[in-house]
Amino acid sequence: MANPTELFGENVFSMRAMRERLSEKTVKSLEATIETGQSLDARIADEVAEAMKEWAISKGATHFTHWFQPLTGSTAEKHDSFIVPDGKGSVVCKFSGAELIQGEPDASSFPSGGLRATFEARGYTGWDPSSPAFIKDNTLCIPTVFCGYHGEALDKKTPLLRSMKVLSEQAERLAKLFKVPCKQIAFSTLGAEQEYFLIDEEMYNARLDLQQTGRTLFGSKPAKHQQMEDHYFGAIKTRVVAFMEDLDTELWRLGVPSKTRHNEVAPGQFEIAPIFESLNLAVDHNMVTMEVLRKTAERHGFVCLLHEKPYAGVNGSGKHNNWSLCGPDGKNWLSPGDNPHENAKFMTMICALMKAVDTHADILRATVATAGNDHRLGANEAPPAIISIFLGDQLTDIIEQIEKGGAKSSKVGGHINLGVDTLPALPRGNTDRNRTSPFAFTGNKFEFRAVGSNQSCAGSNVAINTIVAEALDEICTKLEADVKAGKDFNDSLQKLLAGIIKKHKRILFNGDNYTEAWAKEAEKRGLPNVKKTPEALKAFNTEKARNLFEKYGILSKKELHSRFDIYNETYEKTLEIEAGVTLNMAKTMIVPAAMTAQSELAAAIKNIGSVGGTAVGAKAALKAMSAETEKLFKAIALLEKASGSEKLIVAMNKVRESSDALETLVPDDIWPIPTYVEMMFMM
Ligand code: ADP
Ligand code: MG
Repeated sequence: MANPTELFGENVFSMRAMRERLSEKTVKSLEATIETGQSLDARIADEVAEAMKEWAISKGATHFTHWFQPLTGSTAEKHDSFIVPDGKGSVVCKFSGAELIQGEPDASSFPSGGLRATFEARGYTGWDPSSPAFIKDNTLCIPTVFCGYHGEALDKKTPLLRSMKVLSEQAERLAKLFKVPCKQIAFSTLGAEQEYFLIDEEMYNARLDLQQTGRTLFGSKPAKHQQMEDHYFGAIKTRVVAFMEDLDTELWRLGVPSKTRHNEVAPGQFEIAPIFESLNLAVDHNMVTMEVLRKTAERHGFVCLLHEKPYAGVNGSGKHNNWSLCGPDGKNWLSPGDNPHENAKFMTMICALMKAVDTHADILRATVATAGNDHRLGANEAPPAIISIFLGDQLTDIIEQIEKGGAKSSKVGGHINLGVDTLPALPRGNTDRNRTSPFAFTGNKFEFRAVGSNQSCAGSNVAINTIVAEALDEICTKLEADVKAGKDFNDSLQKLLAGIIKKHKRILFNGDNYTEAWAKEAEKRGLPNVKKTPEALKAFNTEKARNLFEKYGILSKKELHSRFDIYNETYEKTLEIEAGVTLNMAKTMIVPAAMTAQSELAAAIKNIGSVGGTAVGAKAALKAMSAETEKLFKAIALLEKASGSEKLIVAMNKVRESSDALETLVPDDIWPIPTYVEMMFMM
């Protein structure tokens, strides 16, 4: 293994690489743009582009591309080589500042949700200097935003950057109220834990459903799957370790701070987690991680499945979205502080999150609504579709004290700190764990656990940033007015927080989120429980959502509506494709296998009869197979006529039910597709 300290960032045009290659003035100007959000000085672009190109060519790059994230949820690139004819039959390599700053890919086929008419179908890409350029596949990749002619956001990065800015502004207001020094811009942070499955390439190639839909549409659950809990954190198989070593090496080269790797709950399931980074960079790095996962798997004779539910009946894959806020003082604002004053700010942040999540639980739910994720949420393996917050006993106790009129004690070791700000010293490194909560406080960050493994993290974090910004805005507005009116700060903070807690405490739940009792309790509390995507997406089409995103300049009404349309369309299309593949496999693979099995068995029964045998058992087996096949034919007919997502789901399930029953009746050597055991255990 190579040395990580030597590899790390080797293929990134990092600040260090820039310092080596750019004038001091240009470095300063770029730093100002990256670190304080100052707008880019276009005059430095030529110098930066030239240095980037020289650096890239020295690393073997021949092409460059603007690398962006359209609303398909994946990444997009269109390569251009650096070559320009020199007029003497040769070429030179060039890359201008203009090419660095703006691109005009003919990207008219990306979904725009009606934001672009075909006559102005062009999209524009614009350099995002806060995420460094990197080299992959001998191509210099420049992270960019992707917008329409009038600046309409057509991608996931644009609203993410907007939401980071808005949250940063509100954090600064709160900092001023608490007299916290503002040394830098505040920014949200993200650590995205990524789950995935590996499958042997040969098995994958024999499954049309995996190839076309990313998940198995057929397959009966094997006798042994995950119930022994022997895979989770188990010793990693040699072939998989080799893959993981390659994966880390490649990620480190790309500057992705990959940290943790382990076996997950289901057989064939694994997880990779990075060290957290500034949100925008972490989202880009997660997109890169998904791509490197796929490519590295290929080199090792595997296929990496990122679908949320590759196999029915065993755990699916998610993405734990660890979110926090680094304040303008450079400190983590979701970490309890060193003194009562810092703790008061910390409790204000906790209350802001309660207010935000309770007010906009529907929007958070909508950000994780996809056809794939519908199979996971609420299936007792991932958090339910009911959004609630876990704070743990200690914090909940303090919250209750504040509601009653001021916290005087903290549960941990009877630690009491009376006085100045009426808040107790808070325990650090809160180790409470509740794996069933969708939105859990885990000591120094909130972990949103409902994001799908195949999703970009951008959408959920746009929502988290925006709703927290709104909560902070309202909190600061009240506090600023009170301060101006000469009221005592601690007093008015205490009253304000008590009010927020009273109003929003229904969002708190520390118990087991997987139980039926919680579903009932949540209903009593009026918390929404939205099970399917079309219902969940409606949260993007409300006055509340439109006002929220427009007020903070994150998404205009039109931009929001375009997303609503695109996500609905994607959902419908996904189900139509799944239905098509189900029909194809049922008719051309499953039915013929069932017929072959029956005719072989019938022949055997006849043979047995001819020598005087009765073949009672065989006749019963034939009858069972024949009855199940008839059911399958009926289900196929139903699916052929079905339209609309709900009917498609019902009919697909019926086809699967009969097919899975047949799998247990038809001889193994006749069954036309790899079974669950073969796919999950043979690697
Ligand atoms: P676990 O939550 O499973 O105990 P960790 O505490 O190591 O594991 O954190 C899981 C993820 O959360 C990691 O990616 C880690 O970098 C990230 N994380 C830790 N602190 C923060 C933070 N302040 N902001 C965002 N993510 C964080
Ligand atoms: Mg975790």
